[in-house]
Order: sequence, then structure tokens, then C-alpha cells
Amino acid sequence: MIQRKNTPRSHISGTTGTDIEIGESVRVCVRSRPLNEKEISSGDTSCVSVVNPQTLQLNLKSGSKNFRFHQVMGENYTQGQMFSDSGVHILLDSVLDGYSGCVFAYGQTGSGKTYTMAGVEENLGKQDYVSNETDGIIPRSISYMWQNMTRRKEQYYVKAAFMEIYNEQLRDLLNPSSGVLHLRWNIKSGFYVENMLIVDCTNIDDLIMVLHEGIRNRKTSSHELNKDSSRSHSLLLIHTISEEKNEDGHSFKKYGKISFVDLAGSERLKESKSQGVMIKETGNINKSLFMLGKVISALGDKKKVKPHIPYRDSKLTKLLMDSLGGTSKALMIANISPASAYVEETMSTLNYATRAMNIKNKPVIQV
Ligand code: ADP
Ligand code: MG
Repeated sequence: MIQRKNTPRSHISGTTGTDIEIGESVRVCVRSRPLNEKEISSGDTSCVSVVNPQTLQLNLKSGSKNFRFHQVMGENYTQGQMFSDSGVHILLDSVLDGYSGCVFAYGQTGSGKTYTMAGVEENLGKQDYVSNETDGIIPRSISYMWQNMTRRKEQYYVKAAFMEIYNEQLRDLLNPSSGVLHLRWNIKSGFYVENMLIVDCTNIDDLIMVLHEGIRNRKTSSHELNKDSSRSHSLLLIHTISEEKNEDGHSFKKYGKISFVDLAGSERLKESKSQGVMIKETGNINKSLFMLGKVISALGDKKKVKPHIPYRDSKLTKLLMDSLGGTSKALMIANISPASAYVEETMSTLNYATRAMNIKNKPVIQV
């Protein structure tokens, strides 16, 4: 077993020139997409404004509310700026050092989660992955990791898997005919998915192919099984394995892992009620999304006596157990639509994202 040291705190400078602290276990960015044509033509206007790189203002009928996050990304943010200011490269560097990390996009359907994570599907892999402006955080991260692996002296092996969780059922997006897969646990690996296809990737193109294939199968399977794809979570897992020698000449392996999660639409997650009531009432509430919120809030709790972290209460949190908390780093991008018509949903997303920040960062109310 490898002894894991605590990763050092580090700072990077965003394009906005502000110092960003990346030492937190969960970093929270909020990104607003631009108003779309339909919203503009129906006369809808924006209800959000960026006050400064860490503050977003939400304009309600009753007044305005300011929310503070690690980074606020306004509607004019390009995919390249989003990638740089997200701070994801700190996470990617630590994955190459043998740690785990997790990037997830949260928000209502149509707010830009898939755009932020993958980009525009038709453009994926058309050019080299950084010059393609529409590419999201996944292809950019793949490219970043690959460049850095080739710069480092050790040899890396890369493997990838892609799955989805729908109604608390797991399916392999790289091998859809395998049906519903089971989550198992053993002392060596923790939770793992039995019979999941894990693909060896020897170059960037292999990883981009995995991304393509997974996105395509997610669409096809939702069609065939008559599912509402906005209710499924997709998880792309990339494992990096490298071998290093210590001072005594003994070699040891470093296992890094990063999970990219495009979460189910948050519009079905109504906050105010207790979990039990919620499940009973709607019957089909997205348990994984709800439990992820609980886990992240518990991790951000700065109280001396740590609350119980309920990893074991949903498929998603079981799968992310080794990527949230401890020495792992997580990045959450909360996507919002700026349209006034969605002000309630946006508020709910900002509240969820605020809970992922630490307790100190309560929203400041300005009426
Ligand atoms: P979600 O995955 O949250 O349902 P999508 O990523 O599919 O939402 O985005 C909905 C639509 O908005 C898509 O057509 C997408 O291309 C567009 N879109 C999302 N974010 C942006 C953005 N930042 N800039 C331009 N278009 C965007
Ligand atoms: Mg989507």
C-alpha cells in the first residue's frame, strides 16, 4: 500500500488576476450560460450579474442577493477561460502524483452541464484538443494530463471506464449490452463495479474515443429504454498508474484516479423536505443527487466533531467515496441559466453550491 501524504496547499492566478486558493477539499465555481435565442425572443432578461470574480448577484423581485464562490464565471466566459480559472489543473497534477479527484457539473437541465464538461459533441476530437474552442473541461483535461505525463520521467499507464446511474441502476456506457451492473465492495479496492469494461488507452485519441462512445451510448440507451436522460448521471473515470523508485531502489506504483461527473438535472431536487418525505412523495426522486449534497455539506463542515459522512447511502456517493474528502480534491461547477423565468431554480442551485463551500461563506443578503 502506498502511504499518501497530504497534498500541499497551493495558489494559482486566474485570468482575472485574483489569487485563488486551491487548498480546500471542495472548490466551487459557478458558471452562467448566455441567454439563448428563445429566451431573448420571448423577452426574458437576465437575473444574474457578476459583481466581482468571487461574487454573483441574483436579482429577485424582493431585492438582490449576493453569493460568494471560489470563482464566478459570467456568460462571456470562453471554454478556455473556464478551464484555466476552474483550477482543475491542480487536481490533475495531484492525480498524476497518485491521488484521486473528482469534477462534477451540477445544475438544472439546459443550464450548460454537458457543454461545460464535454463541449459540443460534433466538434470533439476534430482538431487538437486545446485549439478547439468548444471543447469542455474533459477534453482539455485529457490533453493537459497527456502533455504532463510525457514530460514526467516515469512511464504512465492509462485506463478508462464510462458508466451511468439512472434510477439507482448502473450501466456501462462502453458496453451497453451488459445490462444492469452491480456495485461490490472488497477490502482492497473499496467499492467497484463488477464486470465493468475498463479500456486501456495508449494515446489521447483512445481517451477521446471513450468520451465519444460513452456520450453516444448514453443517447442511444435513453432512446431505446425510453429514459429521461436528464435524470441520469454519467461518470467518466480515468485511472493513471505509474511506477517510481524510492531511495532504496524499490519500485512502487502510484494509482491516480479522476472522475468526471455530468450530474442529473437538479430541477427535480426540491430542497425543503426531508429525504424520507421526499422519496415517499415523488417515488422517483434522484437519491444519488440528494445524497451527494449531503456528503459535500458534511465535508465542508468546519465543526470540530465531524458529522457522519453518508457515502454509503447512494450509488453515486459510493462510487465517489475515494474521490471526495481525505487527500482527494473535488471541483464542482454549478451551472445556471440567467433567464428570469428560472430564478427559483437558479436560487436553488446557488444554495446547493453554497452548502458545498465551507460554512463561513453564507450568502450576504442585500435588500
Ligand atoms: P445541460 O447539460 O445542463 O442540460 P447543455 O450543456 O446541453 O445543458 O446546454 C444547453 C444548451 O445551451 C446547449 O445547446 C449548449 O450548447 C448551450 N450552452 C450551454 N452553455 C453555454 C455557454 N456557456 N455558451 C454558449 N452556449 C452554451
Ligand atoms: Mg446534459
